[in-house]
Parts: sequence; C-alpha cells; structure tokens
Amino acid sequence: MLYIVIPEEFRSGAEELIKLFFPRNGYKFIEKTDILDPNDIFISLDINDENDKHEIKICLKHEDEILYSESACIEKKDECNRIRSQAKVLLYNCLSHYTGKKLPWGALTGIRPAKIVRSLLNMGLTSDEAYRKLTDYYKLSENKARLTVEVALNEMGFLKNAEKKVSVYIGIPFCTSRCIYCSFPSVEMSKFGNLVSDYLEALHKEMQWVAQWIRDRNLEIDTVYIGGGTPTAISESHLDYLLNSVVSVLPLENIREFTVEAGRPDTLNFEKLNIIRNAGVTRISINPQTMQEKTLKLIGRNHTASQVFEAFGMARALGFRNINCDLIAGLPDENERDFEETLARIGELSPDSVTVHTLSVKRASRLINEMEIIRQTDDETVNSMVETAGFFLRSMGMHPYYLYRQKNILANLENVGYAKPGCEGIYNILIMEEVQTILALGAGASTKIVYPEENRVERVFNVKNVEQYIRRIDEMIQRKIKLLDT
Ligand code: SF4
Repeated sequence: MLYIVIPEEFRSGAEELIKLFFPRNGYKFIEKTDILDPNDIFISLDINDENDKHEIKICLKHEDEILYSESACIEKKDECNRIRSQAKVLLYNCLSHYTGKKLPWGALTGIRPAKIVRSLLNMGLTSDEAYRKLTDYYKLSENKARLTVEVALNEMGFLKNAEKKVSVYIGIPFCTSRCIYCSFPSVEMSKFGNLVSDYLEALHKEMQWVAQWIRDRNLEIDTVYIGGGTPTAISESHLDYLLNSVVSVLPLENIREFTVEAGRPDTLNFEKLNIIRNAGVTRISINPQTMQEKTLKLIGRNHTASQVFEAFGMARALGFRNINCDLIAGLPDENERDFEETLARIGELSPDSVTVHTLSVKRASRLINEMEIIRQTDDETVNSMVETAGFFLRSMGMHPYYLYRQKNILANLENVGYAKPGCEGIYNILIMEEVQTILALGAGASTKIVYPEENRVERVFNVKNVEQYIRRIDEMIQRKIKLLDT
C-alpha cells in the first residue's frame, strides 16, 4: 500500500492521475504521516508560501530514507490552475519513478490537450517549442505530443473569429435500442416513442426562445448539430417536423455547417435521408462502430454491417458529400485482426471523415456491470488498434483535426477525428476548444457560454429525463434566461 499526503484541495485532481498508476487501488490518502508504521512507504506533497512564491515539494519516503524528491516554485501572481498543474507534474514524476510506468499522456488528465497547445502558440511559442513543452514538462510520449500539436495546428483556421458567433446543439434522446457502452441520456423508442410528438413541440418552444435571443443580439449562427440519441430513430413525419422547425425558426443565413447524426444505419431509409438533404444539412454521420457482426450483436446495436453499406449508398445517391463514420477501438471480445477488418471495410465505404473513439467504460453504462463476463481488450492491443487506425486513415488522405479524452477510457488513450481536407466537423472543433457559445436544446443538453476576454466558461443544464423536459420546458427556458441575461 502506498500512502499519500496531499492538501485536500488538490486531492480530486491528483486522484485522477493516481488511479492511472493504480487502477485497482493500492493507495490511500492520509492526513498525517505520524500514524504510519516505520515500514510504510509514502508520498507527501507540500505547498509552502515563500515571500512572493509558492514552493511545491514532493517526496517519496521509506523508513526515513528519501527515495525521490523534487520541487518547483510558482509565482504568487500566477493563477491557482498553474499551481495545480505544477503539482500534478511533480506527482506524475514521483509516481512514474515509484512504479517504473510511463503514461502516454504523461501528467495530463484533462479532456482537451489541444487547448493547451493552442494557448502555448497564442503565447508566441513555435510548434516545436510547444511540442517540447508537452514532452519535457508534461511528459507526453512523442507520438501523443506530435498528434496534439498537429491537431492544434489543423484546428486553427476553423477558430478564427469563432467567438463572434454562436452554435446550436439540438438533442434527440431516442434510440432503437441501448448500446452496452452508452451513458447518454437516451431512451428506447419501443418504450418511449409515444413521447416524441410532445418532445418535438417542447423543443420547438425552446428553439423559438433561442432564435429570438440570437436575433435580439444581432448574432449569427455558425454551426447547427442535431445529435442524440439517434435523431433518425424518430418517424419520417417527426423528422420532417423537427427539420422544418430548425429551418423556419433559427436564423441560418450564414451557417458554415449543419450536421445530423444519422447514427444507426437501421434507422435510415431513402425518405428520411431525402428529408435531411432537402433541409440543407451539409454533413451526416453514419456510425458502424465496428463491422464485426458478432460484436454488433454483443454491444446491443440492432443493425448489420451490410446495412451500413446500404445507408451509405443511399446517402451518396442523394448527393451527400460529407459523411462521417464513428468507430470504437477496444470493443469487448475484439482483437487486432477484427479491428483491421473493420478498417478495411471502412476503406471500401470511403467516408469523408472518421472519428476513432477508444472504448470508455462509464458508470451509467450497462457495460460496467458486465465487465466480469465480457472479455476486455488489453491495453497493448487497444494501443495498437488506435495506432493502426491513425496510419490507415492517413493513407486514405485524412488528417487528425480534433481530439479529446475521457475518464475511464481504455489504456488511458483518446478519441481522434480524422477528415479529408475540407470535410472536418467544425462543430466538433468548437465544442472541444470552448471558444464559442453553444446554445444547447433538448433533454440532457448543456449550454456553454464562453466569455473569451475572461477566459471563462459557464454552463446551464436541461433536465435529462424526457418526460420532465416536456413538462418543465418553461423552467428550462428560464434557466437559460437567468444565465444568458446576467
Ligand atoms: S446509438 Fe448512441 S445514444 Fe443511442 S444507445 Fe447507442 S450510444 Fe447511446
């Protein structure tokens, strides 16, 4: 057992990192070392005030012998976040020394690594200097540092003047079945399909308020993203009503992108795709996740690989020129060969962009309860799958353009969006980089208001429960008013 003494206010951030070294416990936080046995081994992290500086010191001790120690100074005028970040780096170095382990993302546990690079570039560092900061200070592996810098550079062009506009997210929380790994606020059509009409009416009301708010401030909408759930799980007439609402209510004159997640291929037909196309949607996503039939069954997706091909064929015939595919590396019971076969079939589909997710086992998912009976992919295999995907997609003429990480992601890896030049998902970049206000509508949607001058983001959430959302729609609007108008 490793004992850890860390000031209370740094514990939650530190624990994220510690868990990556000790996924099955093996550590314990304590208040003071005087309760320890002489044989116990412990890490202590202290922050001391010294004139105009904070001195952060870490020490690994066993039987009065110092096995490792390191310290750093942060000027008092620096933000609290700098102290946290420096403390994490020292903790990473100490844990890495103690365990002999190196993590691909080093001391970084945050969701948005490219945001760090962007701020370094904005401070005047060159991309080489930013790369070295990632490898030398944050201790990222060379591969991850290179990827992060590349993504940050590819994003730049899409972020110019983005803060002057807003984007709109619309959530349709209905699906045909529940995927084993799902933690999104979505409900099954077979049980809750009767709520769709009322849901769309409530959404229409929220949309009208948002449209007025945008017009009153002479703002423009930059991108619209309809996600879920699976927006195409609803009927043709409901989909038509939804898209008519969007097009007639929101000021869409100058949008750069209009996306509909047409996620499950089994929810698509010619009529629905035609409705989407006629509404002026510029980008859709048809998501196989895997092309292995056995895995599709295991993870609870009610479709086959051949349905992905059919849906793609219909979408191309209707003229869609920007189609994304989502894939997941590390799905239960899959090996490298399975994943390579999936990639080869994706190559046959020839999508315009592919988002490669690494499986993340969330607490709200069914998967977490079935971990004992389902074979999990080991870290080395997942790592190799993710690397192979990168090589393969680059060979298809794509480049990485957005990147994010999640908690409980296998092998502590990442999710990366690859796209052919000109087919990048702009909304994806905006949501990750937090440079633009995103007004989010629907059950479980979270609105993000960005204050660029203050480097501040505020959030307001809609209730997740679909029935509650319908019943409390006026309250959801009031919540937005309260935050947006203060
Ligand atoms: S399609 Fe998406 S939202 Fe629906 S159950 Fe699967 S993961 Fe969840």
